[in-house]
Amino acid sequence: MKWKSLLTIIALSFSIILAEKARFDFYRIYEISVDNDVQLNLMRQISDYPDGYQFLNSLPPSTGIKTQLIVPPHKFGEWSELVEKFDLKVKLINNNLQASLDREEARYNRRKADERDFNSFWKYEEIQSWFQEKVAERPNDLSIFSIGTSYEGNEINGLRINVGNQTGKPSIFFEATIHATEWLGATSTINIINEMLINNYTHLSYFDWYFLPVLNVDGFKYAWSNNRFWRKTRKPNKSLLCVGTDPNRNSDIHWNESGVSTNPCAHNYPGDYAFSEPEIKSLSEFMKTIPDLKIYLSFHTFGQLFMIPTGFTEERIESYQLHYEIGEIANDAIKEATGAIYQLGPSSQFFGLISGISSDWVFENIKPVLTYCWELRPTWGEVESDLDTASSKFIKPAAEDMYAAVTTVIDEARIRGIV
Ligand SMILES: [Zn+2]
Repeated sequence: MKWKSLLTIIALSFSIILAEKARFDFYRIYEISVDNDVQLNLMRQISDYPDGYQFLNSLPPSTGIKTQLIVPPHKFGEWSELVEKFDLKVKLINNNLQASLDREEARYNRRKADERDFNSFWKYEEIQSWFQEKVAERPNDLSIFSIGTSYEGNEINGLRINVGNQTGKPSIFFEATIHATEWLGATSTINIINEMLINNYTHLSYFDWYFLPVLNVDGFKYAWSNNRFWRKTRKPNKSLLCVGTDPNRNSDIHWNESGVSTNPCAHNYPGDYAFSEPEIKSLSEFMKTIPDLKIYLSFHTFGQLFMIPTGFTEERIESYQLHYEIGEIANDAIKEATGAIYQLGPSSQFFGLISGISSDWVFENIKPVLTYCWELRPTWGEVESDLDTASSKFIKPAAEDMYAAVTTVIDEARIRGIV
């Protein structure tokens, strides 16, 4: 009997260890003004050898901008030395990240589980069950599609809207949450679907719509269960120590050329080889099966950027002017809807050169007429307190921005007769 209970205790201890969540007690977030090239190089080195440091966004692309860095307690000493040595201008914007995460979790737990709260983050299972509900309501118009299976065996499911289930319609594809921590992409996609169905959006019947709110399913689930700031996939890479690949550096489009780190532990490690990640390979294969893809849209956080391809070169794409004109009109619509201002331009203008991006691969290989990628709220300079970038307070405004942007892009493309 005694042995039995001892074994139970051991088993329980193991299960507790397995389920343990990353904690961020007394982790701080600093806002840093990156003013010169030496400071920029320092940021790059921190990004390459993180050891607990993590930028809230990708690492800063250039001087003259503000960036936000999570600093773990074991780095406080080193960090204060770096601040002094490199004369960094820093502002403490959060002195206990865990407290902010706890507040977010409490907010999630307060939501009424039996009601769909469109101002709350949803777990992957919640998204899937909502899809099933929607399909049950309108089985002739809606269906669930799968682009394939993730490394951990999760179905990568999205919602397809094809009113009347007819063939031969032009298609639109929405990709979100390729980066596991960027939950506003998922909530914006869900809100867009909901609004379009409620409003019976003007061009709903005209297109065949594919909405994929969570591409990096394993990473997203891990961000919920283990580490709110998880960005990468969950497939082991060539290192023994670190897991995962930056999925938005993994596509076979100028792979491993720029905006990446060779350190497998870095947050922007592009993978052991192009398309090493099943999620990204599956996405590319699935895109080839869509008969007439006209528009490809993707959501990231954060920075309030409205981006035109590409990231891998500064050379302008042939349809740059078209993208820019429609982008300006959509930007006006965002401003009218919520007052928010998004900066419009090619990805390379904001991030420096970045290769292996999924939307660039789609644009170059599948050749939709229009491809845009957004960095949602807030702006780089707006992270002031609390947990801004992981906070549910931006769910509603970001979704409203994107509903205005997306519907205007599509309206305008229809007016011009290009889709
Ligand atoms: Zn991202």
